[in-house]
Amino acid sequence: MSQGISGVGMTSQRTRARMVKRLRDQGIRNESVLAAIETVPRHVFVEEALASRAYEDTALPLGYSQTISQPYSVARMLEILLEGRALGKTLEIGTGSGYQAAVLAQLTPEVFSVERIDALLIKAKRNLRAARQSRIRLKHADGQFGLPEAAPFDTIIFAAAARNVPEKVLQQLAIGGKMLFPLEGENRQTLLLIERCGEKNYTETRLENVRFVPLLAGIE
Ligand code: SAH
Repeated sequence: MSQGISGVGMTSQRTRARMVKRLRDQGIRNESVLAAIETVPRHVFVEEALASRAYEDTALPLGYSQTISQPYSVARMLEILLEGRALGKTLEIGTGSGYQAAVLAQLTPEVFSVERIDALLIKAKRNLRAARQSRIRLKHADGQFGLPEAAPFDTIIFAAAARNVPEKVLQQLAIGGKMLFPLEGENRQTLLLIERCGEKNYTETRLENVRFVPLLAGIE
């Protein structure tokens, strides 16, 4: 009986502690972000996604393993968004496995997330239930249009890259709000921080290079 549920729990807890140590070594300093990452059982999202991939053919263009945000990228993005402020009402575009949404939910009570692939969203729901994250509001929708019914958002975080920031999403950023967008360039992607300073006043800051899957149009 040594391989019981508590055994699995212990292993995952230890693995998470190691992951957090690695994130510290990689330069992540924000303690709330590190605590949030330590809290979320990533194996619930990763294993489910990898297991699911075995049952899918290539009809889903994104291999499921590609859809789970890397802990470093989640941590880094949250650290940037949390600088000098709270996240407030947050919209994530690209739910994928639900992992990043679960981390977000440790940092703010109001998380909305949209995903264009229904099959992924169904799995994300299951993962989030398994991780006991019931407050996140999910919607099957094309994130290029944001989530008008819940706008405005204090924070918007894109989990997929594109050549232009979707206009509709910009409009749904609250004044004083911050948004992170992986901008697709000629041969690299750059993380773009957009702050809305006034009704028609936005500032843009180019940060580090990143790698995200493409933001695609329409739902399936
Ligand atoms: N945050 C996720 C990672 C998602 S990868 C996680 O932690 O697992 C990017 C996701 O964005 C994919 O699931 C992809 O289907 C989704 N996506 C791409 N274009 C989209 C769009 N226009 N609207 C909503 N979701 C989109």
